[in-house]
Amino acid sequence: MTTVLSDREEWDRIKTRLRAELGEDVFSSWFARVELDSLDDDTVHLSVPTRFLKNWLQSRYRDRLLALFGESYGSVRQIEFSVRSAMRPGTAQIRETTEAAPAPARTIPFPGTNGARPPIAANAAVGARHAGDHEDVLAGSPLDARYGFGNFLEGRSNSLAFAAARRVADTRPGEPVGFNPLYIHAAVGLGKTHLLQAIAHAAKAQGHRVLYLTAEHFMYRFVAALMAQSAIAFKEALRGIDLLLIDDMQFLQGRQVQQEFCHTLNSLIDGARQVVVAADRPPADLETLDERVRSRLAGGLLVEIAAPDVELRRSIVAHRVAAAKKANPSLEISSSVVEWVAANVVSSGRDLDGAVNRLIAHNQLTGQEIGLEMAEAALRDLLRTREPRKVKIEDIQRIVSKHFNVSKADLLSARRTRTVVRPRQIAMYLAKALTPRSLPEIGRRFGNRDHTTVLHAVRKIEEMATADRSFADEIDLLKRMLDG
Ligand code: ADP
Ligand code: MG
Repeated sequence: MTTVLSDREEWDRIKTRLRAELGEDVFSSWFARVELDSLDDDTVHLSVPTRFLKNWLQSRYRDRLLALFGESYGSVRQIEFSVRSAMRPGTAQIRETTEAAPAPARTIPFPGTNGARPPIAANAAVGARHAGDHEDVLAGSPLDARYGFGNFLEGRSNSLAFAAARRVADTRPGEPVGFNPLYIHAAVGLGKTHLLQAIAHAAKAQGHRVLYLTAEHFMYRFVAALMAQSAIAFKEALRGIDLLLIDDMQFLQGRQVQQEFCHTLNSLIDGARQVVVAADRPPADLETLDERVRSRLAGGLLVEIAAPDVELRRSIVAHRVAAAKKANPSLEISSSVVEWVAANVVSSGRDLDGAVNRLIAHNQLTGQEIGLEMAEAALRDLLRTREPRKVKIEDIQRIVSKHFNVSKADLLSARRTRTVVRPRQIAMYLAKALTPRSLPEIGRRFGNRDHTTVLHAVRKIEEMATADRSFADEIDLLKRMLDG
């Protein structure tokens, strides 16, 4: 149909759109490891590393993918997912046609680890077992062995969260902890998942019955149990645990799932079982969450992990370097490079990890020694990610209305004249691009519009920016005015 190269480019473009629609976290959980295998007349062949991911994409994103591919290739009628063999990553081995497959999730996927470090939400599902099996029902999202308390570095920004986490892990089941649920919130990369998994490891080691689940996994498991008509077993199993850890709470969606989660939460807490929740924002800002769940979550101990200060950054970098040296004794990274990275890569633990990995990769690929000059060149793009300013939707509305000389009332009104429509779309686009708000939340803040209206605006502005250089510059300018 087209050359391989342009198919790839088309696929990259589709991924960029998905990333903009879904946000970085959701996108990377579900799409980071999807590969385009081939494209024939009417079928797109995508491959993924796990069955779990395959089922999930099939049930939740097939239509969206179909629509996006359809825009690029009018002839595309179906999307076929296959599971890549774990043995030879990157090659499609077991091809499973999804066309004939019944509704996904007749079985509950049973996640396990496959050595590699999967994105937390999208794990290797080694086989699928039937939902009635008690053990299966209690299987959680996989834990990364490296995320222990021993590897978690304490600093001023996280000492409260760290202490609370240790306390929870050390408490015997049934013994009152004093704060239940424990709710940890922080921006991405600041160690939430690490801490939650450290609690899980430590509590497990003491023989506690522990369940660690990402919110998306919780949803998926619950829906799967409903479909397999084993929801009662699932609920009972949930209530039989000592410690429930839910990661990335901001992704819990759907009324029925939230209701179920609420029941679970209530019965665990009332039964003196510990619950720990992590999210990227405090409960009050989880706007799509059921009011009862929100207030129950807010009723325990809330702790925020702030951005790491330079001491903590230094010790994270130094630890990563020491670990790399252990694996590769000939590696040389001087303390001045460590110092430089700690001073200049200021955003998160994840970026610090990435920085060290990149220095090592550059060194191994080019043979260039790891000095300041190389570090500066290799890490240029990480340096720009200073602690992002928190942009508020009000700021966006204010700046956009000033810039285009329309009143804020017009911006939020139902008026459809061109002079108002475009600035409104731009403002909605900026809200999506610069704040962590979801599409429905943004819609609400723009005169109670539907989330599809917001989505349309985001796409429209993206398209225009791609097509028109000067328009793109104007958007850039607005971004800089807001982002500082
Ligand atoms: P989050 O879940 O908040 O997005 P993660 O727990 O995934 O963040 O952390 C991102 C990376 O940074 C992980 O590799 C984690 O081990 C590391 N990291 C973050 N904070 C710390 C810390 N205080 N000590 C050691 N490593 C950290
Ligand atoms: Mg996380």
